[in-house]
Amino acid sequence: MSTLSATLVETENYVFEKLTQYDYEQLVMVQDKSTGLKGIIAIHNTVLGPGLGGTRMYAYANERDAIVDVLRLSRGMTYKAAVSGLNLGGAKAVLIGDPTKLKSEAYFRKFGRYIENLNGKYITAEDVGTTTKDMEYIAMETENVVGLPESMGGGGDPSPVTAYGVYLGMKASAKVAYGSDSLNGKTVLVEGVGKVGTYLVERLAKEGARILISDVNESALKAVSSKYRAEIVPVDAVFDAPMDIYAPCALGARVNTESIAAMKCQIIAGGANNQLAKEDQDSLLLKEKGILYAPDFLINAGGLINVYTEWNGYNRETAMSTTENIYDSTLRIYEIASSQDSTTLDAAKHLAEKRIADIAKVQSTY
Ligand code: NAD
Repeated sequence: MSTLSATLVETENYVFEKLTQYDYEQLVMVQDKSTGLKGIIAIHNTVLGPGLGGTRMYAYANERDAIVDVLRLSRGMTYKAAVSGLNLGGAKAVLIGDPTKLKSEAYFRKFGRYIENLNGKYITAEDVGTTTKDMEYIAMETENVVGLPESMGGGGDPSPVTAYGVYLGMKASAKVAYGSDSLNGKTVLVEGVGKVGTYLVERLAKEGARILISDVNESALKAVSSKYRAEIVPVDAVFDAPMDIYAPCALGARVNTESIAAMKCQIIAGGANNQLAKEDQDSLLLKEKGILYAPDFLINAGGLINVYTEWNGYNRETAMSTTENIYDSTLRIYEIASSQDSTTLDAAKHLAEKRIADIAKVQSTY
């Protein structure tokens, strides 16, 4: 069992340049030969509280890709927690390796010990490539883990909560774009009818929206289309379809120079993480085209709110009512963007940064 200082991993000063540029607090590399564990924990900012962010497991091509990913993701968590009004900081972990080959009880318990060594500064949860079962093993070694099954006092599947926040962010966007937050009669294309997308479709159907769906999974398409009378759009024709609202709920980077040029919608409001391929450039393009973009980390924060609630003793009603704040926060961000003539992304980041700066001042006296 050993930890290694980040200074040793790069010869080109890449790591410390990035840590300094975005003011990361800590980067921890962990390895354990006996279990094959190789992981990196990035703690971006803990002014508001302990850094909470899931553990992603992926067969990264090299260390640099893993570091880039963990730095980018942990900083995103700082913004998500801060703009959602949660007393949480931003952090994330990545485990380097093929999840189908490396996982074992010992592997995750060893990782749990490393998390325990951080004394509560980092709280983990599941993410791409990890499951609630893996979290159960981590929980054998540390209390600093959420996203546990309901049988262990956890919050269970966060997707309905995430979808509720996306739905409310969409309604707030409709209020600004159309003068009413009703989605009745609006055409909404939901891209990706997995967990979040399907719960979103359910809410849209109840409200009388016309629903278009697209997915690479044929059986998911069939099930959702027949249950909610949604029309199927082929994956390569998404941006040709006439629609009022585009709701990306599958992959990141779907909003890019080419797709923006083809878009006919007035609103983008979806659950996917990292929707913009190039954040600054694409958010500006959307502003110029008059498309209202509901920042992803703001409206998909329901999942984080759900695990945050778990941290304080889980209660689904509390998770849902806290998620309701997303409606007002979205309106507030549009107001700031409009009054400052900035992009909605900049407005959301500004609000998050301001909250962190304000609370840092509060903490300056005992
Ligand atoms: P999921 O795996 O259940 O669903 C994703 C769906 O996207 C699947 O049906 C998949 O077939 C489809 N898909 C994959 N590639 C596609 C493509 N090229 N075109 C169209 N569809 C494609 O995942 P999920 O939990 O519903 O999460 C969806 C997104 O929301 C992800 O970006 C995730 O990071 C983000 N998110 C999820 C939560 C949550 O609570 N689950 C919280 C915050 C953010």
